[in-house]
Amino acid sequence: MTATTPAASPHVMNTYGRVPIALARGQGCRVWDVNGKEYLDGLGGIAVNTLGHNHAKLVPALQDQITKLIHTSNYYHVPLQEQLAAKLVELSGMQNVFFCNSGLEANEAALKIARKYGVDKGIAKPEIVVYEKAFHGRSIATMSATGNPKIHSGFGPLVEGFIRVPMNDIEAIKKATQDNPNVVAVFFETIQGEGGINPMRVEYLQQLRQLCDERGWLMMIDEVQCGVGRTGKWFAHQWAGIVPDVMPLAKGLGSGVPIGAVVAGPKAANVLQPGNHGTTFGGNPLAMRAGVETLRIMEEEGLLQNAAKVGDHLRAALQRELGSLPGVKEIRGQGLMLGVELNKPCGALIGRAAEAGLLLSVTADSVIRLVPPLILTTAEADEIVAKLTPLVKAILAE
Ligand SMILES: *Cc1c(COP(=O)(O)O)cnc(C)c1O
Repeated sequence: MTATTPAASPHVMNTYGRVPIALARGQGCRVWDVNGKEYLDGLGGIAVNTLGHNHAKLVPALQDQITKLIHTSNYYHVPLQEQLAAKLVELSGMQNVFFCNSGLEANEAALKIARKYGVDKGIAKPEIVVYEKAFHGRSIATMSATGNPKIHSGFGPLVEGFIRVPMNDIEAIKKATQDNPNVVAVFFETIQGEGGINPMRVEYLQQLRQLCDERGWLMMIDEVQCGVGRTGKWFAHQWAGIVPDVMPLAKGLGSGVPIGAVVAGPKAANVLQPGNHGTTFGGNPLAMRAGVETLRIMEEEGLLQNAAKVGDHLRAALQRELGSLPGVKEIRGQGLMLGVELNKPCGALIGRAAEAGLLLSVTADSVIRLVPPLILTTAEADEIVAKLTPLVKAILAE
């Protein structure tokens, strides 16, 4: 068989700059393309494939579910929703859950909760604090909350009611909201993903929790990328010992089956009432089964501990091999959500790494992002570093 190079189809809308490979199957942290070439998966479908590919426990469970029910409707009770919601409540220490289908949908629901929370308190024009470099999705409202002018460009007018502040600066948020009675919520990622793997500091998170309590604001933490075990705790904010009022989840929650969820604490749990919000697909039995099984398997296989342990190993290895190179600015992140920032744009690495048999991403132009499946082994982590190191040296030498 001769190798084929997939080309863009005129029938698929041209919204992505794609690497010219097409993947055909996967097993664990490895995938193979249509030509049989093997890749180590340092991307995990962008922090989605929590359990890797073709997991021996997940696949039969999903097969079983498909033979029972894929979709019913939210006209009826969905017992698997109740099961997954109860588990998320247990793991988060929060109160209840709304299910949807993606990250932006979870964030959209969070924004609606914040606005209605304000309106219910008599605030007619509620405002929400958001962050520089934040990423919350591509719908009109979540794009407006996103702090990246490139993402806004061409899609104005933006949704109003957002106040933007820099990360990790408690004085800046106090100043930006001073004497403003319309603020209802603060909305942020514990570790910014698309923005370049930028962690909020523990002390800042604690100060922010206190500020939200003092002012009666909802603390809304977008854990779409950093949540569901990726940092070594169920949710990344748990490293700071805080509990949010609203927490959107998505990416890793279904191990690849589309799913979104908004978890609410007591202040936010009863804001939405019948008729206020809804979705056709959200909470369908197939997605709920994927969520239930993902969390169950993560517990059974100790994947939080694995993410922490292998993440530390990977970070240390990256630091050892790359940390002292003059063009490497910083290596940061937590668990299996790591970024290597270079002093120059390095988008070319996505294609070059693929050629070398490694899947990864580059975000914020100059940050190499690794968000592999949480089943990654230390041997596989070493292999990522071995494949990546010469590519980084080469691009820095150009
Ligand atoms: C990916 C992502 C989103 C958007 O999720 P989609 O499923 O692509 O809509 C929102 N917030 C964060 C932090 C993300 O990483």
